[in-house]
Amino acid sequence: MSDRREPQSQGQEPPDRTDDLSEAFTYNGGRVDPGESANIRYGISETYLGDPVRIPVTVINGAHPGPTVFLSAAAHGDELNGIEVVREVAHDWAHEELHGTLVCLPVLNVPGFLAQQRYLPIYDRDLNRSFPGREGSTSAKRMAHQIFTNFIEPCDIGIDFHTSTRGRTNMLHVRANMDHPPVARLANAFSSNIIIASEGPRGTLRREATDAAIPTITIEMGEAHRFQRELIDRALTGVASVLAEYRLHPDSSVHWPGWRTVIDDRDEKTWLRADVGGIVDMKYTSGDLVHEGDVICTITNPFKEEEEVETVEAPFTGLIVGILENPVVYPGNPLCHLVGLAEDTLLALERELAPADPPSNGFL
Ligand SMILES: [Zn+2]
Repeated sequence: MSDRREPQSQGQEPPDRTDDLSEAFTYNGGRVDPGESANIRYGISETYLGDPVRIPVTVINGAHPGPTVFLSAAAHGDELNGIEVVREVAHDWAHEELHGTLVCLPVLNVPGFLAQQRYLPIYDRDLNRSFPGREGSTSAKRMAHQIFTNFIEPCDIGIDFHTSTRGRTNMLHVRANMDHPPVARLANAFSSNIIIASEGPRGTLRREATDAAIPTITIEMGEAHRFQRELIDRALTGVASVLAEYRLHPDSSVHWPGWRTVIDDRDEKTWLRADVGGIVDMKYTSGDLVHEGDVICTITNPFKEEEEVETVEAPFTGLIVGILENPVVYPGNPLCHLVGLAEDTLLALERELAPADPPSNGFL
């Protein structure tokens, strides 16, 4: 791993708890003492049959004191990549030397996960617009409240894993409120090439946790309904880098991804949209570099009539961060999320994408 090359914001040293005694992690009805871990099924609601709806939680309380970090996934029930990230951190990593506590929540939206759909199947509510939740409110807000008070509020920082919406895919990237220095520190530590800067809508876990003084970022990675190994491995590198930055793994170093660009969600209108309805022949995938004027896709009618072919060209040179997977559009539907890059970032990316030098055969 290379050294971190980015200066960190001033005045935000890792929480120094080395003088404190390690503390138990407590939640309603239970505790996990230092040096112990627990697999918990915690009831957050009840089904139509009166059975408990229980979320899986693994709490790993390190033998050494340090910050408490939550890792959560599947707030949208069909977004699966993050589930594997959280499970591997919880169950495949060695935690003997952990300085702090990990709260691993691989499936937040259990009813959505069981139905393999994005929203809670109960009135199609979005769990990720229901935080921090409220007692005595809707079913979604009651579930959010149980999750938030028991497993989010005791934490110091958090990472919430998502994928693109069904029918689209995206490069692994961080979404974070970069105007908030403690969140920016966490976002920079995750080691992704792309950070999309935005506060996030109200009711999302990252916005509400951040507002409750628990700096939180979202990771977007790939598509719904899949385990995508390469993306999962990159996310695991990001988690390890965060644990190094906050000294939960004090002997590890923060990972620098080679190049990085921060996109401000407020001023970049870079989603290219279809102006006609039809069937899309996409020429690129997420993570590809396109040059101004390159044909990104064509949109045709069922008869492939040539005079009806709509050609969509790149309006500028940039990186495709997100792209349509389901090859059909109405006018106005998004085709791809194209992001312009600074010159030095572009050069670094071109170097990364360039094929390796061919082996010399002695004649060249
Ligand atoms: Zn999501």
